[in-house]
Amino acid sequence: TSAAYDNDNIFARILRGELPSHKLYEDADTFAFMDIMPRGDGHCLVIPKKPSRNILDVDAGSLAAVMRTVQKLARAAKTAFGADGVTIQQFNEKAGGQVVFHLHVHIIPRFDGVALRP
Ligand code: 5GP
Repeated sequence: TSAAYDNDNIFARILRGELPSHKLYEDADTFAFMDIMPRGDGHCLVIPKKPSRNILDVDAGSLAAVMRTVQKLARAAKTAFGADGVTIQQFNEKAGGQVVFHLHVHIIPRFDGVALRP
């Protein structure tokens, strides 16, 4: 069972403009920005604007909006950025590898023969 949403998590603070981010895309329901410790060139994150801890509590509407934005950026990685492929990752709760407790989906452009950084 997951804990409550923490209004002061780092992505909530980015959404409120209290912390800077390199914004890539924004619409009514979602926000996309560069990952601060990229595992590959162009590594970015998509988050819902509505407070959601992870995939276990997000409502279906926010989840659908997030995935529409993920698809936009994944396509942009291929067409605009020349990626050969795209890795999508998403972690839930500490045991699942989650570190920041506001739902986020990783988009990592991939290039033939290039491994992800650790
Ligand atoms: P996760 O919860 O998916 O395991 O990891 C959180 C991700 O958020 C990591 O890839 C990390 O580099 C990124 N991250 C953590 N803090 C910040 C921040 O302050 N700004 C940005 N842009 N990314 C962050």
